[in-house]
Amino acid sequence: MEKIKCAYCGQERPQEEMKQGEIMFRDRNRITGKAFVNSKTNWYCADKGCHGYDQMAHEG
Ligand SMILES: [Zn+2]
Repeated sequence: MEKIKCAYCGQERPQEEMKQGEIMFRDRNRITGKAFVNSKTNWYCADKGCHGYDQMAHEG
């Protein structure tokens, strides 16, 4: 059984115990230097608040 690592707490769990969540964060364009809001999709524990906590950790 393949395991997936939670992007927040680092726990490795089977896929059925995980969910995908989108994170918005401030980023900067490497070429123009302009700030913009970027997003990425990570895996998180489905039964814990890892997605919400990680989003809060990315807010400036
Ligand atoms: Zn987690």
